[in-house]
Amino acid sequence: MKKIRAGRWGKNIVHALETHPEAYTHEEAFPSPTHFSDDVVAVMSGKGFLQFEEDFDFVPMIAEYVRQIQAKYCCGKCITGIKGSKLILATLDRIMDGKGGAGDLAILMNMADVLNDAAKCSVCQSAGELLADGLTYYRDHFEKALEKGVAEKPVAYLGSISAPCMNACPCRIDIPGYVEMLQELRYAEALAIIREEMPFPGITGRICPAPCEKACSIANMGDEAIPIRTLKRVAADYEHIHHIEPPLEKIDLTGAAVAIIGAGPAGLSAAYYLNRLGHIVTVYEDLPNSGGMVAVGIPPYRQPRDVMNREIDILRNLGILVDHGRLGREFTIHSLFEKGFKAVLLAVGSHKSTSLGLNGEEEHREGFISGGIDFLRDINLGREVSLGDHTVIVGGGNTAIDCARTCIRMGASKVSVIYRRSMEEMPADPMEVEDAREEGVEFHFLTQPVAILHHQGKVCGLRCIRMELAESDKSGRRRPVPIEGSDFDFLADTVIPAIGQSSNLSFLSPEDGVEITRRETIKVDPHTMMTSRPGLFAAGDAVSGPLTVVHAIAGGKRAAKMMHRYLVDGTCSRSGTEWMEDLIAEIERDHGTLVTARTPGRTPSQSVRSKLDIQERISSFREVDSGLTQKSSFIEASRCLRCFHLILCALKDSSAQRPRGHNSSDQRSED
Ligand SMILES: Cc1cc2nc3c(=O)[nH]c(=O)nc-3n(C[C@H](O)[C@H](O)[C@H](O)COP(=O)(O)OP(=O)(O)OC[C@H]3O[C@@H](n4cnc5c(N)ncnc54)[C@H](O)[C@@H]3O)c2cc1C
Repeated sequence: MKKIRAGRWGKNIVHALETHPEAYTHEEAFPSPTHFSDDVVAVMSGKGFLQFEEDFDFVPMIAEYVRQIQAKYCCGKCITGIKGSKLILATLDRIMDGKGGAGDLAILMNMADVLNDAAKCSVCQSAGELLADGLTYYRDHFEKALEKGVAEKPVAYLGSISAPCMNACPCRIDIPGYVEMLQELRYAEALAIIREEMPFPGITGRICPAPCEKACSIANMGDEAIPIRTLKRVAADYEHIHHIEPPLEKIDLTGAAVAIIGAGPAGLSAAYYLNRLGHIVTVYEDLPNSGGMVAVGIPPYRQPRDVMNREIDILRNLGILVDHGRLGREFTIHSLFEKGFKAVLLAVGSHKSTSLGLNGEEEHREGFISGGIDFLRDINLGREVSLGDHTVIVGGGNTAIDCARTCIRMGASKVSVIYRRSMEEMPADPMEVEDAREEGVEFHFLTQPVAILHHQGKVCGLRCIRMELAESDKSGRRRPVPIEGSDFDFLADTVIPAIGQSSNLSFLSPEDGVEITRRETIKVDPHTMMTSRPGLFAAGDAVSGPLTVVHAIAGGKRAAKMMHRYLVDGTCSRSGTEWMEDLIAEIERDHGTLVTARTPGRTPSQSVRSKLDIQERISSFREVDSGLTQKSSFIEASRCLRCFHLILCALKDSSAQRPRGHNSSDQRSED
């Protein structure tokens, strides 16, 4: 197995080199070498460096690290960063050319300290820290270079910018980049940065669960996170309100014909990237509206429809065709390929409600609605739905809360949510729960339905049992167990189970050759998104199970890029950028953040959540959250610590498995 020969990761040091026998070993604090393919020689990042191969030279690698910072990532705002990194690079280049002088190592050490201590942000600070590491642990490499210069070695470098917020974002948006644009009120530039990685800033600026904010360094230092999600909305709303056409040019579509099934976030995001790559995209959608669960699940008081429709229209205007049609009814996978589509993407989401598993649930009784997503779909499509006076919703997730708040807006006089665990275990967003309570929704915890009560063909409530919490289960939450003899009747005239959903894959036949998982999701290669049938790809909830919009968009984007390569050269290999994205995601998943900010936050948060008045909320579907004013957005954006840094891998250039676009210069252009 690959072994770390030497390295520093945070404050932990492994040093197997003879030059530093005193260094101690603390290997469990390091990323597992299994994350790195055999061709990785060494890694440098803001957290430290790892050396895997004996044949490694620190000097050219730190020179490449500083070169990439200089070329792409140095913000140019602090003189220490710009001048310091320039001076370091010039000195390293001189040494590598064999023209170094006696005082050069002292100059480098001095500059390393200056950069480390005084640069404005962690991208340049990390270069100083790594250089100081090199001058301490690899001094012999520098001395040898001073003597003889550095001979060219067959090493390829792969670099990627990284920040805690970026790494937490499935779409890997350059968050510090767009937040910085907002500090300067440059909305168009902020949107251009976002649209490189996702086409829906207005939608996600409202309903994204914002894993980026949980990862924000400021939050991890005890202050409020930068409101990254709402800042995205500020930029998108500015464009919308001022009727600014997004600068997305229509391009000549000379590529292949591709079909996408499902006009939800995954399908539409794939359509966008395939269109940008010149392919002729047709999206087939079963429902009359595009948008998937954003259109028929998430209620308008959280996701206004004009915002969603505008973002979908932007895609249509680029030449993406959305056709009405249902896979499995009007056409099959086989017939799509027969028709001439060269690649097909399944982005069908999770639209089948999970049943409560109670007797008589299938019998169509008045007052029993088969599932939360069916209820929301009907309401959102403007279909007639009648509710009684007291509606009870079963479940503890966001769908349950969306159903409850929708019922309130439809005029139900009493709305209750029953959940089998306690408030602490509830998967719903606490902010949504708070909003629901404010609007009058009642919550009954540790309560489980055991039978549906009915009278003369009408539902009249649920027989429930009280629960208590035992030890934690596999999900890490405490397991609910029934308290014997605690049954009671919960009277209500409408019952809506909202306990989960799965994908309806009834369109698949054995001849399609598509493998599905035990969870009844479509099985794909996680890197290429291709199913077991060549040319057929899948993304979004249909692959992951019910998740989030941002995950679906990221899956659609990855699938589009892989479909493009499949169409162009028949293979599905990852680009250098994608290879790095996956590596960073895997390390972060298993070992925590790759980046830590060292400068504490300067300005405390001043943003307050501003919401519509309760009476207006409960009597309409108007948007509840008002977002941020321009002034607050500027203040909030200015709090960003820019704690991003470069992660650089040195790879053996001869490796057959090397990802495409492995050179630092070409890896970005390929995407
Ligand atoms: C009530 C609710 C609230 C949510 N709230 C949030 C939230 O606040 N934030 C968040 O990030 N996520 C939220 N989600 C989750 C999010 O909406 C989904 O993760 C996301 O929409 C998945 O995108 P997708 O493209 O994979 O699938 P979907 O959005 O489900 O789109 C799939 C599309 O495929 C179509 N389709 C299905 N089968 C066929 C077929 N056979 N032929 C043709 N078309 C077909 C469907 O009609 C649908 O339009 C919520 C989900 C629900 C249900």
